[in-house]
Amino acid sequence: DSLPTRSTADWRALDAAHSLHPFTDYKALAAEGSRIITRADGCSLWDSEGTEILDGMAGLWCVNVGYGRRELVDAAARQMAELPYYNLFFKTATPPAIELSRRLAEITPHGLDHVFFTNSGSEANDTVIRMVRQYWALEGRPERRVIIGRQNGYHGSTVAAAAMGGMSAMHKQGGPPLPDFHHIREPHHFKYAHDQDPEVFGLEAARWLDEAIQAIGPGRVAAFIAEPVQGAGGLIVPPPGYWAEIQRICVHHDVLLIADEVICGFGRTGQWFGSQTFGIRPDIMTLAKGLSSGYLPIAAVMVGQRVARTLFDKGGEFVHGFTYSGHPTACAVALETISIMDRERLVERVREDVGPYLMERLGTLRDHPLVGEVRGRGLMAGVELIRDRASHAFFSPAGKVGTRCRDHCFNANVIIRAVADTMILSPPLVISRAQIDRLVSALAEALDRTQ
Ligand code: PLP
Repeated sequence: DSLPTRSTADWRALDAAHSLHPFTDYKALAAEGSRIITRADGCSLWDSEGTEILDGMAGLWCVNVGYGRRELVDAAARQMAELPYYNLFFKTATPPAIELSRRLAEITPHGLDHVFFTNSGSEANDTVIRMVRQYWALEGRPERRVIIGRQNGYHGSTVAAAAMGGMSAMHKQGGPPLPDFHHIREPHHFKYAHDQDPEVFGLEAARWLDEAIQAIGPGRVAAFIAEPVQGAGGLIVPPPGYWAEIQRICVHHDVLLIADEVICGFGRTGQWFGSQTFGIRPDIMTLAKGLSSGYLPIAAVMVGQRVARTLFDKGGEFVHGFTYSGHPTACAVALETISIMDRERLVERVREDVGPYLMERLGTLRDHPLVGEVRGRGLMAGVELIRDRASHAFFSPAGKVGTRCRDHCFNANVIIRAVADTMILSPPLVISRAQIDRLVSALAEALDRTQ
């Protein structure tokens, strides 16, 4: 074995001594110490004490086919033995990258036929920034540089992807904001307009994009980017009519539309892609997470005919790429992940079985005094906690109550995440009804304790 056997206390001490964790308050972690996760199977994790934990988040919204898949291990081992690494630079290609490109072109909607591989969702979105600006430059319109995103949208952690995202805490760290990014408010019905008709609000929220384009100047806007359902920003399901109006506005102003499908892709919303669930026709789509079910890092930018043709016909060199773009082992694992989803009809399972069941079970929490709203689509759901239902008062400062509730869940060996005061569930697509029952009863108990 390559890993030594250590006690939990030793793992914790070494972790504390050396590891800087992502998105972590170091002082708080030092006080508590890490829980050491040692193995996993299906929808369950085990910690170093041998305690089983039900993973209601599929890792970070990514382990869609569940843990312990021998097929994925075998696919990786076969590919590593045959060709562990080669790249797509300098006029070379590899069978796994070619085959995965073909398969992705097949399963993604309408004309998204060209693939640029990266290692992470952040890099995919970062790639989009360079690509859309290069597109407009090649079209003779270099002044079209501004990219519009949404407040609390999350597109990744690289400097540029975080600037394109709308996480204010990320904007505050790391110096002055990058130029040529703009953010409109997110279509959060419960937060901004709970007493308004959702459809009326949907149109109004979409028109914030039109107003922003007019204010910036339509000739300066390159693209609009958004997640079909906003995930890390609080599980914000778009109101009816929102996406159709967004699409109309983009077409009207000739602004490219980019769907960040890093979470929504690969079955999460009950179709292969969130764009299909909401009738979006994006020019570009970014994929990650579920693409390999998190077994290996891989992500992709799916590029439609319009942008691809310009890159091909007017291009010259696209001066961008990563050592591991199209990594053959990661591509082989992604191909096998897609095959598993096909064989086990996981998309239909979400749409027809476990998705509706999760929403039905979470609906039983609606009368809890802490619960303001239960919302979701497919197998992603949010339960928004609120201080006072009668006056629609939110907690202030936001996040403390959500964090407490999350910690109660974790102590009860169930992983449910909190985004501010919204409890988030995004389990593996293979979750059973009995496991959904366990998630929901753990959340109900945690709510009682949080009160
Ligand atoms: N886009 C969305 C919608 C995400 O949720 C995430 C990660 O959570 C990213 C992009 C960034 O992906 P990664 O963490 O692989 O860089």
